[in-house]
Amino acid sequence: MDNCIFCKIINKEIPSTVVYEDDRVLAFKDIQPVAPVHVLIVPKKHIPSVKDIQPGEEGYLVDIHKAAVKIAQELGIAENGFRLINNCGKGGGQTVFHLHYHLIGGAELGAKLI
Ligand code: 5GP
Ligand code: ZN
Repeated sequence: MDNCIFCKIINKEIPSTVVYEDDRVLAFKDIQPVAPVHVLIVPKKHIPSVKDIQPGEEGYLVDIHKAAVKIAQELGIAENGFRLINNCGKGGGQTVFHLHYHLIGGAELGAKLI
C-alpha cells in the first residue's frame, strides 16, 4: 500500500534491521526501542489494524505469535519472559496503521500497562 511505512520496509524500499522473515511475516527492530529488545512483527499483507482482519486472514495472528516465540528464543529472552503488545486505533496508541505487534523484553518489565 502506498504511503505505508511498514509496506515500504517489507518491500525493502526503506532500510530496517530485520531479525526474522518468512513468506508471511517480517520482524525488524523498532527505531525507538523502549527496552533492550524491541522488535516489531508485521504481516506482509497490508492490514491496517487488528480490527480490520478479514475472514481468512486470522492465520496471520498465529504466524505472528509463532514468530514472536521463535525470535524471543533466538534473542535469549524467552526463558525470563517478554511482552507482546498490539495497539489498535488512535485511542489505543496506534501510530502506524499497518498491523503490528511489539515484542519487548530483555528487562524486568513488571506488571505495567505498557
Ligand atoms: P504503534 O504506536 O503504532 O503501536 O507503534 C509504531 C512503532 O513503529 C513505534 O514504536 C515506532 O518507534 C516504530 N516506527 C515508526 N517508524 C518506524 C520506522 O521507520 N522504522 C522502524 N524500524 N520503526 C518505526
Ligand atoms: Zn502497510
